[in-house]
Amino acid sequence: MAATILDGKAFAATVRAQVATHVAALKASHGLTPGLAVVLVGEDPASQVYVRNKGKQTAEAGMASFEHKLDASTPEADILAIVDKLNADPAVHGILVQLPLPGHVDSAKVINRIDPAKDVDGFHISNVGLLSTGQKAMVPCTPLGCLMMLRSHLGDLSGLNAVVVGRSNIVGKPMAQLLLGDSCTVTIAHSRTRDLAATCRAADILVAAVGRPEMIPGDWVKPGATVIDVGINRVPHPDDPAKTKLVGDVHFASAVAVAGAITPVPGGVGPMTIACLLANTLTACCRANGLPEPEGLTA
Ligand code: NDP
Repeated sequence: MAATILDGKAFAATVRAQVATHVAALKASHGLTPGLAVVLVGEDPASQVYVRNKGKQTAEAGMASFEHKLDASTPEADILAIVDKLNADPAVHGILVQLPLPGHVDSAKVINRIDPAKDVDGFHISNVGLLSTGQKAMVPCTPLGCLMMLRSHLGDLSGLNAVVVGRSNIVGKPMAQLLLGDSCTVTIAHSRTRDLAATCRAADILVAAVGRPEMIPGDWVKPGATVIDVGINRVPHPDDPAKTKLVGDVHFASAVAVAGAITPVPGGVGPMTIACLLANTLTACCRANGLPEPEGLTA
């Protein structure tokens, strides 16, 4: 039987609608408007599209959106000064510095300058430490989106074997921490893993976050497993080499025949990232004002 397709586009729309409902209630009850500030340095086309989408979806959710677009040559000290200003601004509840930053800027220094309570990307070392010690943190958006989809599809994740392929700070490691937090038995695989096929075949939950097109074939997937494909890879279109198309890290056509459920690319994990950014901004606003956190929108 073919797998259930986990529709991230529809799921993300539901999350955004939930956020918008909470935002409207916050405005009505407390006169509060959650605010998200995005800092974009340079002209990277993919980052520009991404930031434009963030701005649009922030406004649609009823939140305030603040954009700081800086020239690629902006000195690090000026970027840090903007972060300081946003840290001190009570109308700003979430701060996101779009990565990658130009080569002359120390990304870690900039990220770690953000007030951890406003670090809606969850990349500040304090949030990494809080997450890994099971405390209340700001959680990175992409893994949070994956967790929401897993919980929604599987319910209780407790005791399941989860394999995360990829150990980046942005996806792999926080994903593994979140699965551990939900009492999965977690394996993190990477480029030095000796028998990746056998490791993947043991997974009830298989999360692929590698960045290699269609690297994981269907015969690495345990029958009935839930497969979350985080990869976004642009490859030549098979029917027209002048065009490109997006594929994941999982070979969808073979995996869909074996898995119990699977996220497609595009339309799977991708749309969840901005939805979770909005959710994190709402959470940050609630925490900053001593209000209860929105249910179902946090880890
Ligand atoms: P990184 O390049 O930072 O990390 C890739 C990881 O994959 C590394 O840990 C690496 O291992 C591992 N890896 C590489 N080759 C192999 C291999 N042959 N076998 C096993 N493991 C391997 O990538 P990211 O985590 O940032 O992103 C991963 C993918 O997710 C990308 O396609 C990216 O575009 C996508 N992505 C999607 C998002 C979204 O949906 N919104 C958000 C973020 C990322 P090692 O550490 O040993 O080198």
